[in-house]
Amino acid sequence: MDEKKVLDFTGQVLELIAKDQISPAEAQWVTRETIEGFQEYVNPGFLEYRKSVTSGSLDAAVEWADAGPNSFRDVNGKEYIDCLGGFGIYNVGHRHPKVMKAVLDQLNRQALHSQDLLDPLRAFLAKILADITPGDLKYSFFTNSGTESVEAAIKLARAYNPSKPTVIAATRAFHGKSYGSLSGTAKGVFRRPFGPLVPGFRHVVFNDLDMLEKTMEACRLTGDDVGAVLLEPIQGEGGVNIPDDDYLPGVQKLCREYGALLILDEVQTGMGRTGKMFACEHYGVTPDILCLAKAFGGGIMPAGAVIATEEVFSTLFDNPFLHTTTFGGNPLACAAAIATIHVLLEENLPARAAEMGEYMLEGLKRAVKGHEDKVVDVRGKGLLMALEFVDDHVGFEVAKALFDRGVLVTGTLINAQVIRVEPPLTIKKEQADRVFEALADALAQVRVGAAQ
Ligand SMILES: *Cc1c(COP(=O)(O)O)cnc(C)c1O
Repeated sequence: MDEKKVLDFTGQVLELIAKDQISPAEAQWVTRETIEGFQEYVNPGFLEYRKSVTSGSLDAAVEWADAGPNSFRDVNGKEYIDCLGGFGIYNVGHRHPKVMKAVLDQLNRQALHSQDLLDPLRAFLAKILADITPGDLKYSFFTNSGTESVEAAIKLARAYNPSKPTVIAATRAFHGKSYGSLSGTAKGVFRRPFGPLVPGFRHVVFNDLDMLEKTMEACRLTGDDVGAVLLEPIQGEGGVNIPDDDYLPGVQKLCREYGALLILDEVQTGMGRTGKMFACEHYGVTPDILCLAKAFGGGIMPAGAVIATEEVFSTLFDNPFLHTTTFGGNPLACAAAIATIHVLLEENLPARAAEMGEYMLEGLKRAVKGHEDKVVDVRGKGLLMALEFVDDHVGFEVAKALFDRGVLVTGTLINAQVIRVEPPLTIKKEQADRVFEALADALAQVRVGAAQ
């Protein structure tokens, strides 16, 4: 190791981090070092991807700062309306002052917990969650990410139902990429290289009650009884797939009949995104286990949770160390989550998501009028919305044209055939209007069947 070199470089970066504004010369340095860092030390595949979604140079692809609650700025000062919302982490907007304050105040007193004494914020947050979640969801385990929440949920379900090894998930599901959650995730590209995955997982077609029932029956007959059904109430990454109104109530009924737990993964749909605090509330369904993450930390801290009924969670009472994590539920994350819930309630953001969702869905539908040769569907619930195109190529070109016009959107797990529109719940009407204009403009520019 060249110690002097590392000291110089770390020092230089620390100075940069401390700066409010950077000069054009510094911006150039940042761009050059970032591209080189990705090329040589992160993964050059990201550069290839960014090149394909930016029509200018890669200079446009290096981000630097937030620009108010609903936008961010690249290193050259260009602003983008954030219609990706970090895949749904910015429900309360970028750097909400109340979330910032809570985290900074906590940081000034104590950053991480001793790991041995009782940490108060965890207790407060768990109580708050029991209050805001539907039904008798009561006990919480805190995590650092969505995949960890799903892992905890699967382990809890297996421990509760030890004689029922089968977990049923749905086609087009996304639950994360660690082994347990990946076993529930349905996309072959992400699964194939890593097999064998966790045994006992089966997939049924999403929104098909009949297939679920037949599969549960078959599993009972073979002795591989179903212990848990793992679903997103509305599939996010899978293309914003909204089930029929009777689907989730039907799933719950089947779960009761077969003694299986219903695990709802609301990592993306939770915290107000779809127009209610939790998407399951649209359908009058309370799961036995609920998974949260993404927006749970207010777009400031990585944070997640799994909340279960006492009946289910009590499986872990005898030995609370059966499933643990060092950083999960740390005081900074809890402070962020508590402030996030406060802001969601105080600013009535779930209702705002419902209202702005209607406004945006209508505006997007207006913007795609006359482009039926390119856009086949515009759908959404609250501010979880999607544009579906005739093919991957058109979707990709539209996303790229939107990026050039200062609007960030991105494809879904499927591919760019479905583009998600998922802005902060704080997005303003005039910003939404600019998105509609940019979309109409982008659609006018993109040609169907143009060479790739
Ligand atoms: C994003 C997502 C996850 C995974 O969350 P990570 O924090 O990326 O691990 C799990 N489930 C759903 C529904 C998601 O949208």
